[in-house]
Amino acid sequence: MGAAAGRSGNRCGGANAMLRRTASAPAIRGQRPAAAAVVCACMLGDPGNSDLGEGDTKQMYDIAVIGAGVVGGMIARALSAYRLRVCILEKGHDVAVGASCANSAIVHAGFDAHEGSLKAKLNVRGSELMAGVCEELGVKYKNNGSLVIGFGEEDRETVESLRRRGEANGVKGLKVIDQAELRRLEPNISENAVCALWAPTGAIVCPYELTIAAVGNAMDNGAELKLDFRVSDIEKIPGGYRVYGAEGTGAAAGQNAAGADADGTVAACAENGAVLETRYIINAAGVHADEIAWFRTPSSARRPKWARAFW
Ligand SMILES: Cc1cc2nc3c(=O)[nH]c(=O)nc-3n(C[C@H](O)[C@H](O)[C@H](O)COP(=O)(O)OP(=O)(O)OC[C@H]3O[C@@H](n4cnc5c(N)ncnc54)[C@H](O)[C@@H]3O)c2cc1C
Repeated sequence: MGAAAGRSGNRCGGANAMLRRTASAPAIRGQRPAAAAVVCACMLGDPGNSDLGEGDTKQMYDIAVIGAGVVGGMIARALSAYRLRVCILEKGHDVAVGASCANSAIVHAGFDAHEGSLKAKLNVRGSELMAGVCEELGVKYKNNGSLVIGFGEEDRETVESLRRRGEANGVKGLKVIDQAELRRLEPNISENAVCALWAPTGAIVCPYELTIAAVGNAMDNGAELKLDFRVSDIEKIPGGYRVYGAEGTGAAAGQNAAGADADGTVAACAENGAVLETRYIINAAGVHADEIAWFRTPSSARRPKWARAFW
């Protein structure tokens, strides 16, 4: 076992007061996955199917989730319901320091995504699940609905097309409303607003509160969070992967306190040269996910970043 995992008794303090607030979040229960395929959907690379024996399981993590944003947090939470050794690797000084800390907080109803796409399917299903998840995690959720406003008759067709797309995606209750009804719903709306798409299933939720609660719940269930652990390389080894960590962004910002965390919720901080081993990796590094994927991409297949934007 490498240095970082070996230091799992160490604690990082300071940055995680927020995490401790989630200690009362309910533990989620579950059974061991019937098949490894349950966790394979998002895994990085192909660990092969011949060398996943019980051999090193005590010393290895079963799954390392890279990124403690809302996606990594929710995945870690779901996995922590099973008898798996899970760690979350985050290069920042806390959870929810990427896109998940600064978005518009909308739980989208699902009319934006293209019909038939996976995004549409997941958006609509996610929107349906969100109220229940928030209740389980003790996170505030407000089902206030959403409006897409048409500012002139030329926008009416756009609003109508969003309604058609939403209905094709399975979004319930969509309605194109006129100026009078719009004004009744939102008295402060611009005088230029002539129509709107009303989506009653739209909602708002605090994105970082949700992320903190998800990671906290995963940790209550035994997942380990390693902050300031910037994944800097990944090597294939028999039965899994060796993950190399370098100092993350928190240390650079002086935010990674060296002291012990009062209740031991945070397991370890990375330093240059930290390393751990895991059977599977889930790449939830947000806009940096491509960099993680490249660690397992032969250099001959790599394309410059600027080129990929057009492919
Ligand atoms: C302005 C704006 C508004 C938005 N509004 C909405 C909205 O209203 N509703 C909505 O649903 N979505 C919205 N989004 C999109 C939403 O914010 C993202 O889809 C979501 O936060 C992505 O979560 P994530 O966990 O994938 O990424 P992130 O939250 O970015 O998490 C990825 C994590 O991985 C870490 N990481 C990266 N590289 C490494 C590495 N090498 N080693 C270790 N850790 C690493 C990062 O530090 C980060 O914490 C908005 C986005 C933006 C930018």
